[in-house]
Amino acid sequence: MHHFQYHHGELWAEKVPVRRIVEEVGTPVYIYSSATLRRHFRVFEEAFADIPHLVCYSVKANSNLAVLKLLGDLGAGADVVSGGELFRALKAGLPASKIVFSGVGKTEIEMEEALQAGILMFNVESLGELETLARVAERLGRVAPFSIRVNPNVDPKTHPYISTGLRKNKFGLPEEMARSAYQWARKQPYLKAVGLDCHLGSQLTEIAPFVEALKRLKALYQDLCEEGIELQYLDLGGGLGIVYGEEEPPPPAEYAKALKKELQGLPCTLILEPGRVIAGNAGILVTRVLYVKHNPPLAEEKAGKNFVIVDAGMNDLIRPAFYQAYHRIAPVKEVPGEEVLLADVVGPICESGDFLARERPLPPVSPGDLLAVFSAGAYGFVMSSNYNSRPRAPEVLVDGGRFFVVRKRETYEDLVRLEEIPEI
Ligand SMILES: *Cc1c(COP(=O)(O)O)cnc(C)c1O
Repeated sequence: MHHFQYHHGELWAEKVPVRRIVEEVGTPVYIYSSATLRRHFRVFEEAFADIPHLVCYSVKANSNLAVLKLLGDLGAGADVVSGGELFRALKAGLPASKIVFSGVGKTEIEMEEALQAGILMFNVESLGELETLARVAERLGRVAPFSIRVNPNVDPKTHPYISTGLRKNKFGLPEEMARSAYQWARKQPYLKAVGLDCHLGSQLTEIAPFVEALKRLKALYQDLCEEGIELQYLDLGGGLGIVYGEEEPPPPAEYAKALKKELQGLPCTLILEPGRVIAGNAGILVTRVLYVKHNPPLAEEKAGKNFVIVDAGMNDLIRPAFYQAYHRIAPVKEVPGEEVLLADVVGPICESGDFLARERPLPPVSPGDLLAVFSAGAYGFVMSSNYNSRPRAPEVLVDGGRFFVVRKRETYEDLVRLEEIPEI
């Protein structure tokens, strides 16, 4: 369910015609819907209402301050994976007591920042990291609350680049090493084990891998408890998938039901780190058609090749190029007639990998037309870059009949602001 719908042949974001936003802000532009963000968060949150839980929104999915503030106001905590994300979460007013810090490569400086802020816990991913954390904590005279991220070796059946819970992935520690890490930490005065963590990957469309991981986590939790290591939190990470095209991911209520059944009265607080399922379908990328190019077929070919060249490229939305991801694309003003054009929708970047869609049936579109790229609210703007010296697109947040530019379009000056020409 999202609030990007057609009325009288035109795409609206909540109660604002997308065209109106574009008239003011230009293209390409990311547009987010507050109502959709709120709805997604509430549905997820309410699915766990009857057990002790904390929803730590995964900041890396969409880290705009306005988005973080909106979710924080609904009670969201945050899962951060860098000092920058911690800075954002705090700046947006999220309480440190609801922030967990994940990631395989935390630096000492990032650890210091998080300790000073007083975060809920560090999700630690290696023995080296745990040793470093103990040292930093001692230096600061602050006890570091931590979980070990266990790699449960469960196949999430998702794209290899977004699978993280397999032994061959760089994430987490195998179970036996996790056990010895907890034992070692027991003797460290500046470390306090508070939880157990895992994260399987992203865009999971089945419940089974989550349940399998939770089973393993639960067994380990109970073993540790018997050894006298009593933990308060079970963090199952994020990863619940969304509908981009034909997927049929379980709704949050079903996912929650399966997890609660498996948890069965375990005396702990469940932490969840959803990202995509909150933000993914709460955003679109709007782009303008620049040119339509028809390459005639070679002698032996039946059909030629069509390209719809748009003003958004892989620097704006890298998912199609990076993960072969599918994003629905449709004209902002519905074009009457069949989907007659089979085309690659490509950007202006000098790379053949620069496409938003390949061999996509489209209605007849012409230069000047606006196209909406759906499901772009997560891993969209946050993964954008300045490649080809393209200023990054602005972000707009719609709230009912109003809209706000929550990040301005970058300027050429922004591109070079940090650069200097030395006198040589
Ligand atoms: C990316 C990530 C998430 C969020 O994943 P989604 O698929 O967006 O829900 C949660 N936890 C960790 C540790 C992550 O790296």
